[in-house]
Amino acid sequence: MSNRITLRATSAQQKKNYSKRSRKEAEHTIQIPNELPVIPLHSTVIFPHMIIPLRIGRPVSLHAVEEALSSGRPVLLLAEEGGGGRTEVRPEDLYRAGTVAHITQSLRLPEGDLQVLVQGQMRAQVIEFTQTDPVLRARIELVEPTVKKTVEIEALMRSVQSQFDNYVELNREMPEEAATAVRAIEDPGTVADAAALAPDITHEQRQKVLETFDPAERLRLISVLLSRQIEVLQVKNKIQSEVQKGVDKMQRDYYLREQLRAIQRELGEESPEAVASSELQRKIEAAGMPEEVKEKALREVERLGQMPSASPETAVIRTYLEWLVSLPWSVQTQDNLDLSEAARILDQDHYGLRRVKERILEYLAVRKLSKTMRSPLLCFVGPPGVGKTSLGKSIARAMGRKFVRMSLGGVRDEAEIRGHRRTYVGALPGRIIQGIRTAGSRNPVFMLDEVDKIGVDFRGDPSAALLEVLDPEQNFSFSDHYLEAPFDLSQVIFVMTANRLDTVPPALRDRMEIIEIPGYTEEEKLQIAERYLVPKQIEAHGITSDQVKFTHNALRSIIREYTKEAGVRNLEREIASVIRKIARRIAEGKQKPVVVRQSDLHQYLGPTRYLFGSAQETDEVGVATGVAWTPVGGDTIFVEVNAMEGRPELILTGQLGEVMQESAKAALSYARSRAKELGIDPKVFENHAVHIHVPAGAIPKDGPSAGITMATALISAFTGRPVSKDVAMTGEITLRGRVLPIGGVKEKMLAAHAAGIRTFILPEKNSKDLEEVPKTVTKNMNVILVKDMDEVLNVALLRDVNPREKAA
Ligand code: ADP
Repeated sequence: MSNRITLRATSAQQKKNYSKRSRKEAEHTIQIPNELPVIPLHSTVIFPHMIIPLRIGRPVSLHAVEEALSSGRPVLLLAEEGGGGRTEVRPEDLYRAGTVAHITQSLRLPEGDLQVLVQGQMRAQVIEFTQTDPVLRARIELVEPTVKKTVEIEALMRSVQSQFDNYVELNREMPEEAATAVRAIEDPGTVADAAALAPDITHEQRQKVLETFDPAERLRLISVLLSRQIEVLQVKNKIQSEVQKGVDKMQRDYYLREQLRAIQRELGEESPEAVASSELQRKIEAAGMPEEVKEKALREVERLGQMPSASPETAVIRTYLEWLVSLPWSVQTQDNLDLSEAARILDQDHYGLRRVKERILEYLAVRKLSKTMRSPLLCFVGPPGVGKTSLGKSIARAMGRKFVRMSLGGVRDEAEIRGHRRTYVGALPGRIIQGIRTAGSRNPVFMLDEVDKIGVDFRGDPSAALLEVLDPEQNFSFSDHYLEAPFDLSQVIFVMTANRLDTVPPALRDRMEIIEIPGYTEEEKLQIAERYLVPKQIEAHGITSDQVKFTHNALRSIIREYTKEAGVRNLEREIASVIRKIARRIAEGKQKPVVVRQSDLHQYLGPTRYLFGSAQETDEVGVATGVAWTPVGGDTIFVEVNAMEGRPELILTGQLGEVMQESAKAALSYARSRAKELGIDPKVFENHAVHIHVPAGAIPKDGPSAGITMATALISAFTGRPVSKDVAMTGEITLRGRVLPIGGVKEKMLAAHAAGIRTFILPEKNSKDLEEVPKTVTKNMNVILVKDMDEVLNVALLRDVNPREKAA
């Protein structure tokens, strides 16, 4: 069986892929067998009517060529899937649609390969492969659907032709003739085939075109492919032309600028850069820098002049020079060392704080008498809002110095103190130099807040950098990484603040003279509010003291029921909040002068926030009142104990730290060992679980000072003797029942006093600390000094025994 078909063979001269065909071309009938040897093609697809040279090297292909040449019959060209190039070709690797072609020439190459010229004739579809060795052979069916040139097909064809024109126009690598050749083809299917040879169409897409037998479909497919390529080319060209435009503009600007310079030179005028650099030179001369720094700065100006003005480095140098000239190298304020004036200012700004003020005056006196003596570094330690910052400001005011502050809280990076090197993008000087610039003088009072919150990590130890800042042996030539020039910090008075001492890096603590400000009593707060805070806030709100007055009771109520703090920061805030509301109404013309009474507070500040006297309401069994020290002042705590029948164990809850847990164990051991004397049946410890709980569970608690409180609550629970609600206590306990001294007495007693406690149990060894406690507190509380637990129990436990509890 054979396929009999009429072929319009392309003439041999039309070697171009894009061939013009005419009806006059010879029509002859050839016979194509239905089984043909196959030549696998890698990375190419050959269409009918194409004449193309092929290099044949693989054995299967060589065999196929030999057979075709000897028999004078055609071959089947099949493309390999995925590009191909395999040495061993299997039928599965080949597409099923291909092109029947004649081999018109062959030439043996020196390496044994063959160079052949093939001429595509028509599409064919593989029905099956009949042989694979030595030659690949396939049974085929020829495909040559004829189409009528309908209007639609004609239109499709013209559209593809003009798309192709467009494509050639956009693709700079395509010759004009390609478009002309495609435009000349009249057969619709062949137009599509010819367009598929466009270089941007992929191998797979070409195979798809080959497999699309219906010419109309084929035209549609190639139209889609072409329009996509056209889009890509348009975008690509657009990008290229924009880049080109940018380059052109830069070059143009550069030439213009150079010309401008040349013209300015001719006219004897100065360029803007020259003007800027002489301005910088003037500023450098005026900044009063040390000679070496000045030289360095001038060198930088020179460097700037030699750089093209568009260079990014000029901005960096400019910023650097701006920093250099803006520092107060030789700006200094005159110290006022009039001590009586200083004392007056300290009193004017602060109530009380007698010892603190005295210490500050001593400090000033030393400075006055001796310029050479190393003056100590003052550090104010105390809870927030006790006036640490405002004392610093007063020192500056008293001495007539500028004041700046910087918080060290969360500073972990040494570079924050010392600055980043200029090679870093966006580098700046460290905070010390920034502070000095803000101060505008080289001898300000420089307050370093929150030294207790300074961090240490992999970015370097900021406290080491800080030590260098503070050390009078070194700080006359403090070198900031950014400035790269020494700055003299020796005239600066550094004052530090901290909430607590235990977290201050030891090396720093050694250098400091600690001044503790523990917190204020209610009376002191009242005085501060009346004399300082209220007048200050009235003035700040732009009204006068005739317009607003606070009664004593109103202020006392704000202290007791709207704030709970060691300092007066919230008190000031609440007072400000009342005054703000009144000021607003005065501004609106709705308010006459007003006296704020306790009963009005609800209207201004809402419902009360704290219960005053948070001491226990009744005498209870198993609950004792203790006092704790926290960085924000003292606070009362309650220790609750339950004894429950069951397996003996000790349960501790309320986020107790390790030290506190050990105190609990010690307290329990003490109670067990002294059971008989205390009137407890020793057996109860064998069949009772003990649960100790300290409420306010969200706050972690630690420290040894709750030892006697826990023991008291425990013994109360086992004896059934209630603990007096008026008693608060603090002290560490030993296994033998001795009471050991603790810290933070002042803060604890202030807190107990604020909570309305009447009797305070304190270790005897702490008696010396009582001197520091304000008289108003000690006068109003019965302080009982104890040596051992028996004395504690004598005071804290009530005689009357609750019969129900005793039974347990
Ligand atoms: P700290 O720095 O200790 O946190 P501040 O210095 O910010 O506290 O003080 C908070 C406010 O309380 C400031 O307005 C301050 O003037 C005021 N203040 C604190 N203590 C006193 C005092 N003894 N006399 C007058 N005002 C005080």
